[in-house]
Amino acid sequence: MNTPHAQTIAAIRRQRGASLVIMGHHYQGGLVIQHTDLRGDSLELARQVRGLRAARHIVFCGVSFMAETAAMLAAPGQKVVSPAPEAGCVMADMAPGPLADAVLRRLTADGRRIIPLAYVNTDAHVKAVVARHGGSVCTSANAPAMLRWALERGDGVLFLPDKNLGHNTANILGLREDRRAVIDVSGMGAALDPAALRSKTLLLWPGMCVVHKRFTAAQVEAVRHRDPDALVVVHPECEPEVVGRADAAGSTSFIIRYVAEAPRGAAIYVGTELNLVERLAREHEGVRTVRPLTPSHCRNMAKTTEEVLAATLEDLDDIEPVTVPCDVARDAVVAIERMLEACR
Ligand code: SF4
Repeated sequence: MNTPHAQTIAAIRRQRGASLVIMGHHYQGGLVIQHTDLRGDSLELARQVRGLRAARHIVFCGVSFMAETAAMLAAPGQKVVSPAPEAGCVMADMAPGPLADAVLRRLTADGRRIIPLAYVNTDAHVKAVVARHGGSVCTSANAPAMLRWALERGDGVLFLPDKNLGHNTANILGLREDRRAVIDVSGMGAALDPAALRSKTLLLWPGMCVVHKRFTAAQVEAVRHRDPDALVVVHPECEPEVVGRADAAGSTSFIIRYVAEAPRGAAIYVGTELNLVERLAREHEGVRTVRPLTPSHCRNMAKTTEEVLAATLEDLDDIEPVTVPCDVARDAVVAIERMLEACR
């Protein structure tokens, strides 16, 4: 759409050429994503940062933990900028670094080797804590491979912060439910009873994504009743009861492929963030019918608007870059590198 902001953005992109790269997560709205050079899910975007050697400025349209990851993987001299630095992630906020560290110390005080595996939807402090405890990070795309990686390295795994992704991944690996426990992290871990948890292989942090929590098993059942031929695909941040009733579940990139590979004429109900579902509906219009399982919007992803992006680009040389304290970045990168190494 040729808005005044779009004209500003296009002019700055022409002027700056290859020295400016705009990256955007799939959950960004259409008015923003149309201006991105690279779009993807968390794993794809993290992988691509290291290939951007000609870029002086990397503008990251997403939420803060993604921009932090890009900043930690960027080369010296590259400036990573977030158009909406206040855009956090409700799920990431459920696992602050000092609490994760306190919980891990308590769980390992008796010598038990617990390997932490943090979803990338965590801030840099949590990633650093995880690295110091011998763990790594994962995305929704590689969670099964990384959970297997963590299980091979210890007596148990602490998966944080998304208990739904943890349960759904454990289901893929066939890890029995009675070997899992959602832990109580209240009182800086004081409520934990490590002895009672010794029989549990997978300890799950009690966090979740508020956007994906809105999808319910009843919504899937209603689709089955209304349109028995329709397909249902959901993100693994949904509750296990939702994933269990869907035809398929996977990362945003998986969902994009699933819709593209569905038969012509298919109706597909999608359980993930609304911006992506609406974009898929537009892209497949006339060939496949794509609908949200229920409309569910991430208010933090929505903080990056076309207007905010244009203002950021106009101010690019003066704007404060995303930074992570050196000691935190050094350790957090170790956790990220372990993932990139394990999932080449
Ligand atoms: S969709 Fe969920 S996990 Fe993603 S940024 Fe929003 S709150 Fe966080």
